[in-house]
Amino acid sequence: RTICTYCGVGCNLEVSTSNGEILSIQAPYDAEVNQGHTCIKGRYAFKFYDHPERLNSPMIKRNGVFEKVSWDEVYEYIASKLTSFKKEFGPDSIAGISSARCTNEENYLMQKFIRAVIGTNNIDGCSRVCHSPTALGMQRTYGTGAATNSIDDIKDTNCIMVIGANPTDAHPVTGAKLKQFAMKSGNVSIVIDPRRTELARYATHHIPLRPGTNVAVLNMMMYYIISEGLVDASFIENRTEGFDSFKAEILNIDLDAIEKITGVDRNIIREAAMAYATAPNAMSFHGLGVTEHSQGTFTVMQIADLALLTGNIGRRGVGVNPLRGQNNVQGSADMGVQPHQGAGYMDVTNDAVNKKYNEFYGVEVPKMIGYKIPEMFDAALSGKLKALWVIGEDIVQTDPNTKKVIRAMEATDLVIVQELFMTETAKYADVILPGASFLEKSGTFTNGERRVQAVRQVVEPVVGTKPDGQIIIEIMNKMGYPQPDYTPDGMLAEISQIVPFFAGITWDRLGKNGLQWPVAKDGTDTQILHKVDFKRGKGLFEFNAWEETMELQSHAKDFPYILTTNRELEHYNCGAMTRRTANELILKDDYLMINPEDAKENLISEGDYVCIESPRGKVDVKARITDEVKRGILSTTFHFPEIMINNLTGDIHDSEAMCPEYKVVAVRIRKSKGKFKKQLI
Ligand code: SF4
Repeated sequence: RTICTYCGVGCNLEVSTSNGEILSIQAPYDAEVNQGHTCIKGRYAFKFYDHPERLNSPMIKRNGVFEKVSWDEVYEYIASKLTSFKKEFGPDSIAGISSARCTNEENYLMQKFIRAVIGTNNIDGCSRVCHSPTALGMQRTYGTGAATNSIDDIKDTNCIMVIGANPTDAHPVTGAKLKQFAMKSGNVSIVIDPRRTELARYATHHIPLRPGTNVAVLNMMMYYIISEGLVDASFIENRTEGFDSFKAEILNIDLDAIEKITGVDRNIIREAAMAYATAPNAMSFHGLGVTEHSQGTFTVMQIADLALLTGNIGRRGVGVNPLRGQNNVQGSADMGVQPHQGAGYMDVTNDAVNKKYNEFYGVEVPKMIGYKIPEMFDAALSGKLKALWVIGEDIVQTDPNTKKVIRAMEATDLVIVQELFMTETAKYADVILPGASFLEKSGTFTNGERRVQAVRQVVEPVVGTKPDGQIIIEIMNKMGYPQPDYTPDGMLAEISQIVPFFAGITWDRLGKNGLQWPVAKDGTDTQILHKVDFKRGKGLFEFNAWEETMELQSHAKDFPYILTTNRELEHYNCGAMTRRTANELILKDDYLMINPEDAKENLISEGDYVCIESPRGKVDVKARITDEVKRGILSTTFHFPEIMINNLTGDIHDSEAMCPEYKVVAVRIRKSKGKFKKQLI
């Protein structure tokens, strides 16, 4: 029994093997997360693990060609290069990007390596490009940047609000529960999304806003809740601060202007606000359609404030519940894969915290905040970054502005890529380390509801590969830092001493269904946060005004369409794993969703290639004509390296957390012959 490697739902899987080969995957009925269900990815997309294209030897690139080398040679090479960069240019010339695909223990080790062995806080992970605004926004409002409740609470809610998420494709097992809720007569469901997603078709309220106007819609919802006297006065009085000035700002917003910029009739927004505020219990769920915007953190804060305003916090059936993207993105941040907070979300700049880390790691760790991923690329381009170690993250395909990422890779003297396959990023590596998949190692993943679950090895690592944690440990030892060999129980014993909310987590206690953090020393876990108070004391009301993204302010005149990105049920992220399984036979091509009127105006028919051009580049994608998107809006995925949609996305990111703005890209379109596939301008 182990845990799915794809999305943050964290489904339990039962893997059947024979003679060291995986035969099938089933879903256990006694799994609290998925009760006998999985989606098409979890159950069927596992054959990548022994695919002939698996990397199976360490390699060093010499004269532009990868040469297979021994583990001893690669460790010697890496250790001597990193030691010399550290000596000549200082520890801050080195950075690491850890992986949400890896276990908590491996993420902990990677951040420990960067901090304690290299001596820099230049460590970041994929949450930078997905839910970093969630962590920051919820920390500012509540003090804790994680889901307040559990998915099981859907059973006890009266209203769901799903904003910027398409869970039936991206989080299918939770998506099915939300769909079931929405289909039941009498239940209230609100979907805030530019697209008419599957869930939106069943929702009692759909707010089809223009991409980039979440803050405006939420402010308008809160305007109606306050002006119509539907606030929870006693909750506000006893458990929050900052309400009076927040209220004054909200009541001062310009409804006419908001109606115009969002493109949604104010009555639709008002009715949704009334429904949320009057439901006895209301739960919100949000995804990357909230966070991947220039106002991502502010939107998360508004969602958190909406819950405070209506007292929807601290009991079953309520709360703010981010739908985490990758399987262990929650865990990687918990373990300290962030440049400003170490293991356990402790502020690296704080003297007492620094002392604690120094004593625990037995060496001095730095106090200066390190580079976030976009800053790593800038540092590479300005010559400050000499070495970058990337684990299980295809930054060339999935980070915005592909051309710039490639230039940053090329400008870095030593790029180490630890991977399963020769991804677009691995092609730019100087050194390849062949890691192991989730089926070949043990440890823990933490799902989107803070549930730490046991990942159990079911087959031996493919010959020539090693579990990622063991690779990190061997390099730590090579560079003179003593770290015992990787075992999940040994690693958890270390982590539980430094991460306060892991205090009571041991390998043996995890059992079948894991434990939801915080876990007390006696092993008691926590299904619902903020029952009595918030980590920061009182919940904070803070007004944020809507602002148009610079992407549209600068480019809308020449690039009048808005391209947004979405996910497909069959594939995951860069597609490196799912596209090496039979799921590829079900969906092997990307497509561009385009409204019938826009298609007609541009003489585009179903299946035609459309050249999409942004200020950064152009790509060709086949058209799918659908009224799922409104006029002026286009949508496609980034699963397909043949297309590399991130040639189009830009450098604009969330003003607070630096999460890239994937969801609003100014583009123009025309019918084409498909010649710009994989071509950069
Ligand atoms: Fe895996 Fe997510 Fe599908 Fe569950 S819903 S099987 S965790 S991809």
